[in-house]
Amino acid sequence: MSVLIRSYGAAETVTGSCHLLTIGRLNVLVDCGMFQGENEDLNYEPFEFDPRKIDYLVLTHAHIDHCGRIPKLYRDGFRGKIISTLPTKRIARIMLLDSAKVMLEEYRTLYKKALRKGKEDEVRPPLYYEDDVYDAMELFKIQLEYNQTLKLDENVSITFRNAGHILGSAFVEFNINDNGVNKKIVFTGDLGLKEKLIINPLEDEEYADYVYTESTYGNRNHKNLEESIKEFEEAIVTSFKDGGNVVIPTFALERSQEILYILRKMYDKGTLPECQVFLDSPLAISATRIFLQFPEYFNEEVRQMIKRGENPFIFPYVRFTETVEESKKINDIKNGAIILAGSGMCTGGRIKHHLKHNLWRPESSVIFVGYQTRGTLGREIIDGAKMVRIYGEEILVRAKIYTINGFSSHADQKTLLSWLGNIKGLKNVFIIHGDKEVMHVFKDKLDKELHLKSHIVKKGEGIHL
Ligand SMILES: [Zn+2]
Repeated sequence: MSVLIRSYGAAETVTGSCHLLTIGRLNVLVDCGMFQGENEDLNYEPFEFDPRKIDYLVLTHAHIDHCGRIPKLYRDGFRGKIISTLPTKRIARIMLLDSAKVMLEEYRTLYKKALRKGKEDEVRPPLYYEDDVYDAMELFKIQLEYNQTLKLDENVSITFRNAGHILGSAFVEFNINDNGVNKKIVFTGDLGLKEKLIINPLEDEEYADYVYTESTYGNRNHKNLEESIKEFEEAIVTSFKDGGNVVIPTFALERSQEILYILRKMYDKGTLPECQVFLDSPLAISATRIFLQFPEYFNEEVRQMIKRGENPFIFPYVRFTETVEESKKINDIKNGAIILAGSGMCTGGRIKHHLKHNLWRPESSVIFVGYQTRGTLGREIIDGAKMVRIYGEEILVRAKIYTINGFSSHADQKTLLSWLGNIKGLKNVFIIHGDKEVMHVFKDKLDKELHLKSHIVKKGEGIHL
């Protein structure tokens, strides 16, 4: 029986994860993510395969670069079954609805501008609408637990293992019976770390013939988590010494919950100055509520806390501000507020309002806890801009700026190497989901340190296993 794998996304790029396995007569897609940043235009191109012929879509986790094109897949005729963990299904729903909303808002703004120039025909409509998301959600028909195996046909079965990346994230094992010989192919999706604040950490893989591995941080190592938590706690305490507010740009999923959890622990220890903590993001609030539905996915420490009847994300200082009115009211507070808002890189959303109100005030602080890519407002600020432009207004940067680098949902180089190094029987490692230069650095490490055969997968290239 032939096994053919083609990667249509996350091949020599980080985003747009999409891999098609053709095993005998079975067509299985692993992830169907959105391209982001400089590759965004690729989202609008037709799929390079026939979505109507896909039997199953196996979704590793609910980040938008892994699930973001599912509604488009539905629009283009996909009616197969989507297999994921239950948290992934719930998170995918809010992420996709948010993505549809953001695309529609962008479209309306651009359309209005184009109308004034008589160029409205040139504005591209959204990739999909909210209704497409609801339709696509109907296809999430199979939920798997970690370590549970599902037969896709008489010769192919899959098993999910805990990837320790975000809530519900899995790496996937394909076990294929090829005329009596078993072939095991693993797709990592995104791998997390061996140390996690809330969810259970990355699980080991014992045996595999082939691995398709992500390589996002294949060229560098993260700072130690414990040190970063300490740095963060110190930043909070010193921030409040001058009065003012603390603004924390945060990603809605995972990082928001991690920061709330650290603040909760500070509160318990009595080291958190008296303040008001605002989770000012509807998406982060929804994500936090989903987290609370899955305590069995949490690590021992957090589970113990829940057993004691304590909520890891909610304590007397915390307020969830869902409506625009509640959010605007925060602007009246001049000191003693910790404001968590998105987007994580300050490219849009409520965070821009909070920066506008606090960035020019020397008594306020901004704490960055996530990676800021080039070309974003967040990056401009951490690179030391003295003045930035927010909603057409020039704003001085006088607030204290802290950058804390040790929080990450992704495995770093040493974690990836030790995880792959532990796998017995590896015949070939296929490198995906990374920037080109990073992939070459990582391949070199695999050759020299682990003496493993590896290959950098090109977009659309067919690999027979
Ligand atoms: Zn991810």
